[in-house]
Amino acid sequence: MILYNSESREKEEFKPRKGNQVKMYTCGPTVYNYAHIGNLRTYIFEDILEKALNYLGYNVQRTMNITDVGHLSDDSDYGNDKMLNMAIKQNKSVLEIAKFYTEAFKSDFSKLNLKWPETVIPATSCIDVYIEMIKKLIDDEYAYVSNGNVYFDTSKLEKYYRFTNQSQDEMLVAARDDVEEDKSKRNVQDFALWFTKSKFENQALKWDSPWGIGYPGWHIECSGISYKYLGEYLDIHCGGVDNKFPHHTNEIAQSESFLGHHWCNYWFHVEHLNVKEGKMSKSANNFTTVQTLIDKGYDPLVYKLFCLQSHYRKILIFSYEGLDSAKNAYNKLISKIASLNKNDGAVDNEAIKEFENKFKQALENDLNTATCVTVLFDVLKSNLNDASKIYLIESFDKVLGLSLTKPKKVIKNDLDDDKKAYVLSKIEERKVAKQNKDYQLADNIRNELLEQGIELIDTKEGTEYKVI
Ligand code: AMP
Ligand code: ZN
Repeated sequence: MILYNSESREKEEFKPRKGNQVKMYTCGPTVYNYAHIGNLRTYIFEDILEKALNYLGYNVQRTMNITDVGHLSDDSDYGNDKMLNMAIKQNKSVLEIAKFYTEAFKSDFSKLNLKWPETVIPATSCIDVYIEMIKKLIDDEYAYVSNGNVYFDTSKLEKYYRFTNQSQDEMLVAARDDVEEDKSKRNVQDFALWFTKSKFENQALKWDSPWGIGYPGWHIECSGISYKYLGEYLDIHCGGVDNKFPHHTNEIAQSESFLGHHWCNYWFHVEHLNVKEGKMSKSANNFTTVQTLIDKGYDPLVYKLFCLQSHYRKILIFSYEGLDSAKNAYNKLISKIASLNKNDGAVDNEAIKEFENKFKQALENDLNTATCVTVLFDVLKSNLNDASKIYLIESFDKVLGLSLTKPKKVIKNDLDDDKKAYVLSKIEERKVAKQNKDYQLADNIRNELLEQGIELIDTKEGTEYKVI
C-alpha cells in the first residue's frame, strides 16, 4: 500500500515493523461539545484507513484517546481548560460534560458506520503513566520545573519541528502572533507537561504529583496512552492536519525523548473540511453537526459519501449543493442495488476479479476513495450477473461502510440538550443493569422512557433512541 507520510512529505510504501501487524493511534475528540462534521471527516478517513488495511490483509490494533482534561482553550498553553469552560457554562461537572459528549460522539460513529476503536481511553485514566514519563523526562534533563509547572525543554532536541520545512524563527513568529508569552518558560516554544494549582486554581480535576497538585498538559496524554496500550513503537499515527503543530510535534518530542529512540514511522493527516469563510471549527461557531444534517433530512451516510468522493489530502468545502449531489448519487446507488436479484446466477469468481483489483488498487494508491466509489458504479453498470454484483458490493462496503445493501433508517430526534442528557444517562443506567443481570430494572427503564415517548433500539453498536 502506498501512503503519503506527512513527516517525509512523500508517498511511501507502507511497511509495518512486524509483518502484517499494524499499531495505529488516532487522536480522539475533546469532549466539551458535539463533534462537528469537519472533525468527523477526519474520523471517517481514519476508519477507512483501518478497514482498508484489514481488507488488504493487515491486522490492525488501534487505540484512541478521549480528551477529558488538559486541552486548553488556546492550542498552546494558555487560557482555561476547554472542558472546564463548558462545565461552568452548563452548570455541570466536568465528568458529566465528558460523559454526555463521549456518548454523543459514539452515537455519531454509529450513524456514520464507523467502527469504535477496540481501545478507547479517557485521558483522566492514565495519570500515573504521564507522571512516570514526566519524571523520566526531568531526570534526563528534557524537562524542567518553573513556577510550579513542568515544561518540556525544546532546546534539548536536535530537530523539534518535524512536519515542516519552516525555520524555527518563522514558526516562532507564527506562534507568537496570537498568544501572550508565558514568562515561566525557558524558550517560547517549550510546552507544559504538568500544570499545578499555582496556575489554574479553579481546575476541577486535579491529581497529586511530585510537582504539586495539578493536572497534565494536553499533549502528554497521547504519548502516555499510546505507550501504555501500544508499546514503544507505533506504525501509524493519525489526526487532522491542524494536529501537526503543536500537538503531534510535541507528542514526538516527548515520546522520543522518553523512549530514547524513533517512535512512529508514518503520519497520516486528513485535510480540513472548510466552509466558505475558512476552517469549520467549534471556536469559530460556524459548525454543523450530524444532528443538524438529520434534522434537515439528510442521511448521515450521504455526508460520508460526500467525503469519500474527494481525496482526504484535499481541502473539502462543505455546501448543501454539494451534499445534494451526494444525496442523488447515494439514492441512485441504493435504488439500483435494491433492484438486484440475489438469486440471479452464482458468483462468477473469474469475472469479479477485474473489479476487485480495481478497488484494491484504488485503496493502495494513497486511499483513493473517489475511485472506489467509481468502481461501485462500474460494477452496477457491468454485465456481471446480479449475484456477482451483490457479492462485490457487500465486500466493498466492508471498507466504505455505506449500508449499501441494507439501508439504515434515519433516526430523527429532536430532544433538547437536557432531555438528551437525561435519556443518555438512562441508557447508561440500563446498560449497567443488564451487565448486573438486573433485567427487571433494565425493563423498567425502557418502559419508563417509552411512557415519555422515547423508544430504545438495541443495535450491534449500542443502544439508540427514537422519539415516537
Ligand atoms: P478536537 O476535538 O478539536 O480535538 O478535534 C478532533 C479531530 O478533528 C482532530 O483530529 C482535528 O485535527 C480534527 N479536525 C478539527 N477541525 C477539523 C476540520 N474542519 N476538518 C477536518 N478535521 C478537523
Ligand atoms: Zn493526540
